[in-house]
Amino acid sequence: MELQFLGGARTVTGSCFYLNTGHLKILVECGAFQGSREIEKLNYNDFPFDASEIDYVFLTHAHYDHIGRTPLLVKRGFRGKIFCTAPTKELARIILYDSARLQKEDSSRSRRRKNQGGWEGSEYEKDEPLFSEDDVEEALKLFETYPYSESVTLNDNLEFRLRDAGHILGSAIVELWVKNEKDRVRKLVFSGDLGQLGQRIIRDPEYIREADYICIEATYGNRLHRNKDETIIEFLGILKEAKRNKGNVIIPTFAIERTQELIYELNLFYEKKILKDLPVYLDSPMAIEATKVFRQFPDFYDEDATRLIQKGDDPFHFDEFKAIRNVEESRRLAAKKGVVIMAGSGMCTGGRVVHHLANNIEDSNNHIIFVGYQVRGTLGRRIVDKESIVRIKGKEYESKAKIHTLGGFSAHGDERDLRYWLRNFGKTPRKVFICHADEDVALSFSEKIQVELGLETKVPNYEELVELD
Ligand SMILES: [Zn+2]
Repeated sequence: MELQFLGGARTVTGSCFYLNTGHLKILVECGAFQGSREIEKLNYNDFPFDASEIDYVFLTHAHYDHIGRTPLLVKRGFRGKIFCTAPTKELARIILYDSARLQKEDSSRSRRRKNQGGWEGSEYEKDEPLFSEDDVEEALKLFETYPYSESVTLNDNLEFRLRDAGHILGSAIVELWVKNEKDRVRKLVFSGDLGQLGQRIIRDPEYIREADYICIEATYGNRLHRNKDETIIEFLGILKEAKRNKGNVIIPTFAIERTQELIYELNLFYEKKILKDLPVYLDSPMAIEATKVFRQFPDFYDEDATRLIQKGDDPFHFDEFKAIRNVEESRRLAAKKGVVIMAGSGMCTGGRVVHHLANNIEDSNNHIIFVGYQVRGTLGRRIVDKESIVRIKGKEYESKAKIHTLGGFSAHGDERDLRYWLRNFGKTPRKVFICHADEDVALSFSEKIQVELGLETKVPNYEELVELD
């Protein structure tokens, strides 16, 4: 039995594991690489297998770095089944169609510019689209959804179960029981992305007791998040200061989960009247769509969110909240003072947030709040790293706005959470593969796990193939 790491190896994006059990060929995740142009080029690499020979694909959750190459796989001939939870399918539909549309626009724009002989110089100029809307449609036909905790026996050689990963709505840990060449059953656990304990709306990650092999994410494997309560107090403090100084608050948000959690939190502020007279705009058609999916699956909420709904409160709406779809209306936000604007993309690599940053970054009364991980090479990362001059759409801007990182809102567990999750396995794992982390983080986390938990670990390289006993 062989496992090959086709992404998320010494990097945080492009998650993709190829498992050849001897009987079956399985992919867990089929994500896209995101970040610098150099990294994104990896999306165009050939798969090291024949896509038509893959039997099954498991998707842990609907983030682009975990699902982004699924339509490409279908385009290259995959006709098997794709397993995930129902919310993952609905959120994937939004993300993948959006990506196909963006790629089409980007490529026709770049072709036009090339023909005109001029180029303004954005690192995000794309080549040919990876996939089209038709490929997305074909891919969606292959999805088959399952609830958490149901054991599914597909055939003599494969049984699986999805467990709650507590990362975003519908996110799952994948447990696989497969027979190897010698017909011995081996259990593999793929953590997907593991959420932070106490996240809003969704439940906490489930703990698992046994595994022969584990692939665990370690995005924050070298960091401890600030306490959630402190984060909320800090958030409220920033909002109040902005209101006092008539400054704006720009929050680059990921359309899924972060946005809904922020609306949830803001709704509580307004309901409890801790905050008032500070209008909040959600300027992201994709996040508006994603919020609809959240409303569609209340069964996936935690107790708090369920109780809120039972009390008759709509956790995703309050009086001073306004969702904006229209581009003209989005432009008009530039004239406003003393407002909160949430817009995508979460790492500022595109989308409406780019204009809002350009309009607001040079004023020291304004605030920019980051609530999620910023990949190296992105505009978001450069702002977080406090570069004094940043280039936005080819123009230079002085970064004077106050920059905040609220790690407590992270959708990823921190080092302590990850270690605790691993500790639950006891001594059963034969090997733990540390994935989905920047190289330095993966290596330091790996060492810590070896020393403190006595587990045998490995930090795989990109495209590395390992033999599993
Ligand atoms: Zn994720």
